Amino acid sequence: MLCDDVKRVMYFFLDGSLGDQKRQTIEIHLGDCPDCETRVTIHRRLRGFFRKRLAPLTAPETLRVRVVQSLRAGQ
Ligand SMILES: [Zn+2]
Repeated sequence: MLCDDVKRVMYFFLDGSLGDQKRQTIEIHLGDCPDCETRVTIHRRLRGFFRKRLAPLTAPETLRVRVVQSLRAGQ
């Protein structure tokens, strides 16, 4: 496995949507390659950060309730 291969499949790796065998190959590479390990760590943190920030925006129920309330207030 090359660093370019790791870059290409990194998102799937972080998603957990890679097969066991491929994931294992990447984990072995990460153990040998500090560059890729750092890159994966950074992306993992970024993903957690964005998920936290975007969570309130992607809650449709909250939004629906707010819209209904503002419509009622306007009547
Ligand atoms: Zn590498």
